Amino acid sequence: MESILTINNLTKKFGYLTAVKDLSFTINKGNVYGILGPNGSGKSTTLGIVLNVVNKTEGNFHWFDGNTTTHDALKRVGAIIERPNFYPYMTAEQNLRLVCRIKDVDQSKIAEKLDIVGLLDRKDHKFKTYSLGMKQRLAIASALLNDPEILILDEPTNGLDPQGIHQIRQIIKDIANNGTTILLASHLLDEVEKVCTHVVVLRKGEKLYSGRVDEMISSHGFFELKAEQHDAL
Ligand code: ADP
Ligand code: MG
Repeated sequence: MESILTINNLTKKFGYLTAVKDLSFTINKGNVYGILGPNGSGKSTTLGIVLNVVNKTEGNFHWFDGNTTTHDALKRVGAIIERPNFYPYMTAEQNLRLVCRIKDVDQSKIAEKLDIVGLLDRKDHKFKTYSLGMKQRLAIASALLNDPEILILDEPTNGLDPQGIHQIRQIIKDIANNGTTILLASHLLDEVEKVCTHVVVLRKGEKLYSGRVDEMISSHGFFELKAEQHDAL
């Protein structure tokens, strides 16, 4: 199996708080991985470390075969770790043209990516007129412009209405079916069950479980996870 990301014994401390503790897992090509855990369990910190925006305290990680620098590897990665942020008075297409210039990507990709997220017919609408779901879909199109081998999403459906949630999840599955590996962080068991093939379950920065989602569902202890999730909502 071709490895996309390998994390070994990663630890992150913020002062006295250990946000990620001795975490190890591997992301292989072609799967949809979820990092599942309640708020504060270290999901975003883990994503921040592998994306080089948070410094690790201990341990290591490497992208792909380990022979590329993180800087070069990240050119092959698409990521959305913040709320979508585009120019409100520019159209969707104009915003993506700007992203192409910044990323040094061919503008001919824009229509293809807008089509994937179902926004091609709204490409001439100003960003400020978009719903939250459409803004998130535009962010996905933007993250796909460089044809990444892996797409990373942090809480991709947060704040969306049921229809928006459904659309985003379907788009993520479509992208995965076209061969792009996915890594998403979510506090929703339901999201991981519906979208992911593999999961890493975190509790207070520590790995509680990792493996296939179908095996987790049929495993002992799953009902506790489900009950706990229910309590948390
Ligand atoms: P999650 O994404 O699972 O909600 P985070 O990775 O954001 O969790 O946070 C894990 C823990 O680290 C939390 O207790 C959070 O308050 C803390 N934390 C995150 N970022 C910082 C930071 N920059 N400074 C101090 N503490 C932080
Ligand atoms: Mg988070």
